[in-house]
Amino acid sequence: MTTPHILTGPDLAQSWSLIRRRAGERISLVPTMGALHAGHLSLIDAARRHSDRVMVSIFVNPTQFNRRDDFDAYPRTVDDDIELCRNAGVDAIYLPTVEAMYPTGFATTIEPGPIAQHWEGTHRPGHFAGVATVVVKLLLACAPDVAVFGRKDLQQLAVISRTITDLNIATAIVGAPTIREADGLAMSSRNRRLSPDARSRATAIHRGLLAAVTSAARSGDVDQIERAALADIEPAADSIEYVAVIDRATFVRPTGVCAPDSCALIVAAWFDGVRLIDNMTLDGLD
Ligand code: AMP
Repeated sequence: MTTPHILTGPDLAQSWSLIRRRAGERISLVPTMGALHAGHLSLIDAARRHSDRVMVSIFVNPTQFNRRDDFDAYPRTVDDDIELCRNAGVDAIYLPTVEAMYPTGFATTIEPGPIAQHWEGTHRPGHFAGVATVVVKLLLACAPDVAVFGRKDLQQLAVISRTITDLNIATAIVGAPTIREADGLAMSSRNRRLSPDARSRATAIHRGLLAAVTSAARSGDVDQIERAALADIEPAADSIEYVAVIDRATFVRPTGVCAPDSCALIVAAWFDGVRLIDNMTLDGLD
């Protein structure tokens, strides 16, 4: 197992990538904020299927956090992450410092369009501008042929796909399925911060998603689907930001009846000070 190259600034990432591409190799990138888990490893596996070389970026991006306490509390486990990447056969890790990403005088922000205005966009003001800007910067530094993102962050994936298309960035965006714990909880770096009590209550999210799928199979009635999910999630969570049916293309909530294969239930809820998000397509296939 060879140790991945550690690239600490955009110039180093650009030249590593350029040398590989000149050698005729395809490169893929898996952008992460570290505290890697099996969900991230599944993206690395998917990336390998698309390319000759896999890059992983690890950067806890301050501009996508709308709360300073959340940024400060975000788990940072860089040594373990490097070891996991090494064992997964990752070729290079882009590990920039905040100063390398946002030097003094940095002043440019990408403002994503309407998809970014709902749900996460409402509850986390500025979040998607931070995400879109950092992802474009990561893609310009690593210049991958393919970048792999998890459908766990479904709205993020939609915002990124739109941004990359609109800016004519020549990277193919690939979405990968959500990896879950045995009891259904979606894997997340934030799960490390859950108390044992909150960890066990958080399994209600997955039960709520499954209840929504069952309800959608019966009638497709949007209100009824949301009520089915809430019946599981509401008693377990400390508070709920949204439990909503959305059209996967627009992130608009349909009125009346929805088509299960083009709609998803999306959830954001708090458990003992930890904010968790999850989603499932209403046909239950993803
Ligand atoms: P993060 O480090 O949380 O910013 O996530 C980095 C990437 O991993 C994003 O594309 C996420 O959607 C993806 N990801 C996070 N959790 C999971 C999971 N449980 N299954 C699959 N992908 C995930």
